[in-house]
Amino acid sequence: MPIDPTLPYDDANIFARILRGELPSKKVYEDEWALAFDDIAPQAPVHILVIPKGSYVSWDDFSAQASDAEIAGFARAVGQIARDAGLVEPGYRVLYNVGLHGGQEIPHLHAHIFGGRPLGRMIG
Ligand code: AMP
Repeated sequence: MPIDPTLPYDDANIFARILRGELPSKKVYEDEWALAFDDIAPQAPVHILVIPKGSYVSWDDFSAQASDAEIAGFARAVGQIARDAGLVEPGYRVLYNVGLHGGQEIPHLHAHIFGGRPLGRMIG
């Protein structure tokens, strides 16, 4: 079920629990600003989720409320993770689902990184 994007941050969401080490994940990267792990139900040969260390519900929340350092650190981490996965030359896609129409299901901001095959056109 897509989340209601107007709700406040819920500390019990799955990605908050992964950040606190309460739930396992297949970690691929971690630094001061971001944690990345394999999606549990991959939709491409490479499907990595990147989450900020801070408590942000969505891209909307993050882009409005996060500090410049958090935004820069997170953006650099997303680029580095794709680079480390060897995706730059063949190409890849970064996706944020936001709110009801975006189909966001987990209320902690996450960037999806897809790669490993031609991904087709934008949507559908
Ligand atoms: P979204 O629809 O943008 O909120 O995407 C949520 C993503 O989280 C989906 O691609 C799920 O497969 C993925 N997911 C859900 N639970 C886990 C988990 N425990 N570990 C890794 N990925 C997960």
